[in-house]
Amino acid sequence: MVKGSCLCKGVQYAVDGKVSDIGHCHCSKCRKISGVNSNGVVLAAARRFQWICGEDLVRHYSMEDGWTSAFCSTCGCPAPMPMPDGKLFWLPIGSLDEYPEINVVQHIYVGSKARWEIIGDDAPQYDTEVEEA
Ligand SMILES: [Zn+2]
Ligand SMILES: [Zn+2]
Repeated sequence: MVKGSCLCKGVQYAVDGKVSDIGHCHCSKCRKISGVNSNGVVLAAARRFQWICGEDLVRHYSMEDGWTSAFCSTCGCPAPMPMPDGKLFWLPIGSLDEYPEINVVQHIYVGSKARWEIIGDDAPQYDTEVEEA
C-alpha cells in the first residue's frame, strides 16, 4: 500500500500494490506546473488506485493540445489524474507520503531542460519522449 496527499491533506489517495519507478520530465510545461526544474512522476494501475478523500477538490487544466494537469483547488498541489487510456493513474512524486523502493529510471525532454539544470543521477536521458524499443 502506497499513500499520498496534498499539502492541505484535503486530497488523499492510496494505491493497493506497487507503483512504477520514477520518470522525470524536463519540458517547459512541466517546469511551469511543478514550479521547479522537472516534473517527477510515478504510475499506478488504475484498478489499484483509490481516492481516500478529496476527489471533488481536484481541478483539471487542459491546454489546446490536450496536455492536462490536475491540482488541489485548496492548496494548489499537483494531484493524481487518470491517464488517457484509463488503465493507469499518474501520480506526482512529491505527493507520496512514504518512500517506496523505487528509483529514477528515465529523464525525458532533456533537450528542452532549463539551462541551469544539472541532472545528478545516471538514469537514461532522452531528448524528447522515450524511444520505442
Ligand atoms: Zn490540498
Ligand atoms: Zn513534461
